[in-house]
Amino acid sequence: MQNGALSELFGRMADVMEILAEDRFRVNTYRKVARIIADTPVDIGELLESGRLAEVPGIGKSSLAKIEQFVHTGRIEAHEALLRRIPAGLLELLRIPSMGPKSVKAVYEALGVTGMADLKAALESGAVAELPGFGRKKTDQLLKGIAFLEKATGRIRLDQAAEAAQIVGAFLAEIGQVKAIVPAGSLRRRCETIGDVDILVTVDEADVPRDEGRRTMDERRGAAGMGTGRMPVLRAGETLATHKGRTPSAQEAVIEAFTAAPFVDEVLASGPTKGSARIRTVEALVQVDVRVVAAGSFGAACQYFTGSKAHNVALRELAVKAGLKLNEYGLFDGEKPVAAAEEADIYKALGLDYIDPRLREDRGEIEAARNHTLPAPVSLKDIRGDLHMHTTASDGEDAIEEMAQAARRLGYRFICITDHSQSSAIANGLSARRLARQVKAIRTLNEKSRDLTILAGVELDILADGRLDFDDAVLADLDYVTASIHSGMAGDREKLTTRMLKAMDSRYVNCISHPTGRLINERGAMDLDMEQVVRHAARTHTALEVNANPWRLDLKDTHCRMAVEAGAMLAIGTDAHSAAGLTLMAYGVDTAARGWATKKDLLNGMTVRQLQVFVNKKR
Ligand SMILES: [Zn+2]
Ligand SMILES: [Zn+2]
Repeated sequence: MQNGALSELFGRMADVMEILAEDRFRVNTYRKVARIIADTPVDIGELLESGRLAEVPGIGKSSLAKIEQFVHTGRIEAHEALLRRIPAGLLELLRIPSMGPKSVKAVYEALGVTGMADLKAALESGAVAELPGFGRKKTDQLLKGIAFLEKATGRIRLDQAAEAAQIVGAFLAEIGQVKAIVPAGSLRRRCETIGDVDILVTVDEADVPRDEGRRTMDERRGAAGMGTGRMPVLRAGETLATHKGRTPSAQEAVIEAFTAAPFVDEVLASGPTKGSARIRTVEALVQVDVRVVAAGSFGAACQYFTGSKAHNVALRELAVKAGLKLNEYGLFDGEKPVAAAEEADIYKALGLDYIDPRLREDRGEIEAARNHTLPAPVSLKDIRGDLHMHTTASDGEDAIEEMAQAARRLGYRFICITDHSQSSAIANGLSARRLARQVKAIRTLNEKSRDLTILAGVELDILADGRLDFDDAVLADLDYVTASIHSGMAGDREKLTTRMLKAMDSRYVNCISHPTGRLINERGAMDLDMEQVVRHAARTHTALEVNANPWRLDLKDTHCRMAVEAGAMLAIGTDAHSAAGLTLMAYGVDTAARGWATKKDLLNGMTVRQLQVFVNKKR
């Protein structure tokens, strides 16, 4: 279903037009279209293709054209054109409770406020309180709202950070002298949320004549229509005039190109080897720091800037005990470098096995590396199949065969179709009769499918009292059942835990999907006794899902670790609602790896035969 994202885009366009004081009538039209889309229970893409969308009252020709563009390309040009007309920071202000487009327009026009920091300063100075329609009470409220946002959403989701790194990385890779690009920090550790994106770059000055680098950069600037807003990198004692006559070093050229890149919204800092900028991605402004590091100490820099802090502290202590010194330039014996260019050499020199970045949290990995007992963390190539996905039968966008085709392209050996059960009415859940028809269709397709086994399953609602949405007779026909709590998640710990354990007691329930129900930056986890959950899962041969959707990552890393230690199996599921959604698998794999899971802890690592044995053991 793309209705949510599309509705938000129309709302966004209305916001921007209101800030720009455009025609009221048009603003209202956009708001109305946003509401209609949000309220439509059927996928907009489907309505569009069938021609029924044109008949929906309130959706005119021009809205229809925009929707069509979105369905086919994932974007709306008019939206992007609107965004270009206001400072990007203004939209951020709309996230503050009681700050509507009208208020944003007022502070922008009267005080020149263009972002969160500006507004905060203007509120604190009392300037905002002087404006008509604001006053003390409202400004106090706004300050509280900003404080809340700073606490609540200081970090972005892993996929948002990965997108930012991808944008910047692809750009830097085009620069002639750049030899290696490594996103470091919490992104490299694949944490569930990320603060700033750190990118390390090393250049090869010997390979490229300096003016070649210069030209590449100028061409880039020209192509991007830049020339203003760029911050030149000045050396100590240098002025703009003297700078102009000098050819920048390869390091400086990288930073200059980065800070002048077309995706940069605001340059925060710029020096000879480090540039810091806020860049635009599809849905967020992301701070990206680019550091240019000498090739000779690139490994040490990767180690240092990957962290975590706690891991690095423990590692430095180990170095000190060995009479060595460890920093971002290398591991040193006095002045003499012991290891610096290669990250692995640093671990080796400290008597440790190489530690996968996803394990660097000071959660016992250093000791395990010394004792040669580190797990071989699961990787994408261990994955033989996906166990959670939706089709057009419930709220997915693609048919069974399209999901199967996409799975074949990923090299999978099996998939399990798990559409919603009847109680998930908003998600168009299947009745027992519709499910039976789907099972039949899956069996027919599977017979013709040589390389891929298509399993028939269901995402079964766990009802409020722990009973299941279908009788055993219905479930007995399925190959695999994953059960989920989709409602009543606010209950108390004992009640929720009992409800979940009871579902696991069913001989037909093979997995619990997105066990805690959290949505990153949106909704907290259910209050569950996780110790009991993982123990009961192990005891009843029920797997726990690692939902790979980057909004969920549920189980989270530490819960995965608990499950692995309790001997419970994990099942990574993308919960894909389209064929493209199957590619989210890597996020689940990384989360499981952060929980020290290996191939043998995962249903996804099994052959179809082994999976059937797992299911039958419980029946
Ligand atoms: Zn679900
Ligand atoms: Zn699902």
